Amino acid sequence: MMPEEVDVVVLGLGTSGEDLALQLLEAGLDVAGIEPQLVGGECPYWACIPSKMAIRAASLLAEARRVDGVAGQAQVTPDWSQVARRIREEATGGWDDTAAVARFESKGGRFVRGWGRLTGPRTVSAGDHSFTARLGVVISTGSKPAIPPIPGLAEVAYWTTHEAIAADPLPDSLIVLGGGAVGCELGQVFSRFGVEVTIVEGQDRLLPLEEPEASHVITAALEGDGIHLRTGARVEAAANRDGQIELTLEGGADISADRVLVATGRAVDLSKLGLAEAGIDAAARFVEVDDRMRAGDGIWAMGDVTGKAMFTHTAFHQSAVVAADILELDPPPIDYESLPRVTFTDPEVGAVGLSEMQARERGQDVAVAVKNVPSTFRGWLHDTDSQGLIKLVIDTENGTLAGATVVAPNGGEVLGLLSLAVHQKTPVDVLRNMTYAFPTFHGGIGEALGAYARGTGKVIDPAYTTSGYFD
Ligand SMILES: Cc1cc2nc3c(=O)[nH]c(=O)nc-3n(C[C@H](O)[C@H](O)[C@H](O)COP(=O)(O)OP(=O)(O)OC[C@H]3O[C@@H](n4cnc5c(N)ncnc54)[C@H](O)[C@@H]3O)c2cc1C
Repeated sequence: MMPEEVDVVVLGLGTSGEDLALQLLEAGLDVAGIEPQLVGGECPYWACIPSKMAIRAASLLAEARRVDGVAGQAQVTPDWSQVARRIREEATGGWDDTAAVARFESKGGRFVRGWGRLTGPRTVSAGDHSFTARLGVVISTGSKPAIPPIPGLAEVAYWTTHEAIAADPLPDSLIVLGGGAVGCELGQVFSRFGVEVTIVEGQDRLLPLEEPEASHVITAALEGDGIHLRTGARVEAAANRDGQIELTLEGGADISADRVLVATGRAVDLSKLGLAEAGIDAAARFVEVDDRMRAGDGIWAMGDVTGKAMFTHTAFHQSAVVAADILELDPPPIDYESLPRVTFTDPEVGAVGLSEMQARERGQDVAVAVKNVPSTFRGWLHDTDSQGLIKLVIDTENGTLAGATVVAPNGGEVLGLLSLAVHQKTPVDVLRNMTYAFPTFHGGIGEALGAYARGTGKVIDPAYTTSGYFD
């Protein structure tokens, strides 16, 4: 059969692919979209949206339990079925993409349900369909859960985040493998809905990619929720035992639970995309791209498949770059150094730029200004859930922020101001001398920098040092 001619083929109509395809269709291009699973991809069906919906419910439960102004402790009864219903009916429409496919087709898109692969520089096949793309092909095939090579793991019915997000009812007990952002977020949610949760993390602390102080606060918060934490723990084997899943840890200890959720990161599989046909290295970990997201002549890649900060906001930004490049407009620049990231635990961990250690490893001369959230007015007012800190890593050579971390209620929102500062290389003097609304969590930024200006080098809020967050 002769290939159909289109302007652009989008391989993978997930988070970034759907976004791009709709932009190109609206600009009048002829677009073919190939998607084997759900149009919209990971974020709306299995990741950001349903997980944050569950987090919202879990946080409200915790807040209700903390509420002031009622006689005795507020009584709340968790009911996961309500959350599961909301995820099923409101967030994901029962994991049904009919509306998304219709939206794509109503704008003139040619939709193919299937796995696609490149068959040449500008040609793609998917099942019985083949396309030639006049302008080019966009690879937006995402990532998948990275499953660690633990003996026996393949034989137990472990969960990935897909099964966890769709779970209803919840199990009585759950082991979460991986204490990164996703493991901590989901572990806290399920614990607050009554599941006995154990988090196993191979590194010596939770959230190992974030500042150690953030790990400290989150460890205390999760322990406060009753979660069992095993850090510095390596799993050596997995097996089914007496109706449960048993994990053997290095050193011989066994732990078991009804379910095991594997949340040990994401991996990209380039082996089945036909990349070599288009001159792209299929043995690489990710698709290499330039600053216009070009992977070759007439080939772009975007989203998780590029391995650059696997977040939806990265995917959307990259999709805007690809759209502009294809439409011969000026692409919005991407500054990966100032990409923000948020772990939506309670309290939230928002971070941007470099950690103190990363900056020092790069040879940057840095000082640190810290404000402990409970010692801000807002934190003190907030009382029971106000653990946290604002940590600013200051590049002393140029007087700007190399990075910043906020661990606080709504820490991801406080991060907005700091993201702008890192992105725009705002002098810390400007941040110190501006007026902050009183009493706010972000007012702690001014307080941290005030303390910094009064001292030299590493200035630590006194309340902070006594809290023992610092080694
Ligand atoms: C539990 C969880 C929570 C998360 N929470 C957040 C969050 O709060 N904020 C945030 O910014 N990020 C979050 N993320 C990350 C975010 O979901 C991803 O970075 C984002 O969805 C990646 O988009 P993408 O377009 O690269 O890939 P995807 O959305 O995964 O889309 C890729 C698509 O390509 C399709 N595909 C694969 N192979 C082929 C093929 N051969 N042919 C055709 N199609 C193919 C797939 O079926 C898929 O639909 C979370 C991730 C997880 C797992």
